[in-house]
Amino acid sequence: MEINNVLVIGAGTMGNGIAHIFAQSGFNVTLVDVDDSRLEAGVNTIAANLDRQVKKEAITAADKDATLARISRSTDLKAALPSADLVIEAATENVTLKTEIFRTMDSLARPDVILATNTSSISITLIGGVTGRPDRVIGMHFFNPVPVMKLVEIIRGYATSDATYATVRDLSEKLGKTPVEVNDYPGFVSNRVLMPMINEAIYCVMEGVASIADIDTVMKLGMAHPMGPLTLADFIGLDVCLAIMEVLHKGLGDDKYRPCPLLRNMVAAGHLGRKSGRGFYDYTQGK
Ligand code: NAD
Repeated sequence: MEINNVLVIGAGTMGNGIAHIFAQSGFNVTLVDVDDSRLEAGVNTIAANLDRQVKKEAITAADKDATLARISRSTDLKAALPSADLVIEAATENVTLKTEIFRTMDSLARPDVILATNTSSISITLIGGVTGRPDRVIGMHFFNPVPVMKLVEIIRGYATSDATYATVRDLSEKLGKTPVEVNDYPGFVSNRVLMPMINEAIYCVMEGVASIADIDTVMKLGMAHPMGPLTLADFIGLDVCLAIMEVLHKGLGDDKYRPCPLLRNMVAAGHLGRKSGRGFYDYTQGK
């Protein structure tokens, strides 16, 4: 089946980035969210990011206009589904919400349509299992900011077919991304490797092994990481880090994934990183 019309569910951080790259690659995109203000904010972000590309002379002003013209908005998921050739769900990370959206998608999208999710931590097999087409359900895990980051982790659920995988891999390449094939285990590869490192850095803080800034410096200068693990944790959000550690701990059943007590304390205290103004660093007057 030829893919022309792509439906992106959720116009937040990831959804607007996903809509941006599909529209820029020539696909017609319908962006769906729960209200007009979120859609407006999403499209404004896309326009601002396209402006930056124009300023850098990566694209022309005409390219920007053509990209925006390929994006339409809707608050009516049910009405938008029948004309979709591919759906990518990037709604809030909540298993009840996602399974409900997938049931709706399954009932209204054409039977041959692939249903993809950008989830960072929910099982693709579980999501596929609530549909009548688990062979056509797959993870398409983009990274933030989507227009910049090259990687797409393509996650195959237990029942995902080879044909579905091949379609999504080819599509990712058409978007200028580098796809990596991953099987469906907790945290996939990215968070399975990244989060325990961040968690261990937090143990180092808790045990007084070194200062926060020095732990970050060790990983930047010693391991050539572009940013230290504690700066990165603040950027991701400490609540998100904790939720992912819980998924690893529960899903893999191994205590090596136990979340650091200091991480729990900071989340309970509302020190969530950049978004709350305070995490390992203070963002109230710049870093
Ligand atoms: P976000 O909170 O910025 O955006 C989520 C959007 O989904 C919101 O605009 C919300 O209104 C919308 N939404 C909620 N329920 C909806 C519904 N029923 N129908 C349509 N829209 C609905 O979240 P985000 O950071 O963009 O994350 C989205 C997904 O991407 C999550 O599954 C997350 O795990 C995953 N993800 C996030 C990142 C990241 O760095 N932020 C990276 C990779 C993957």
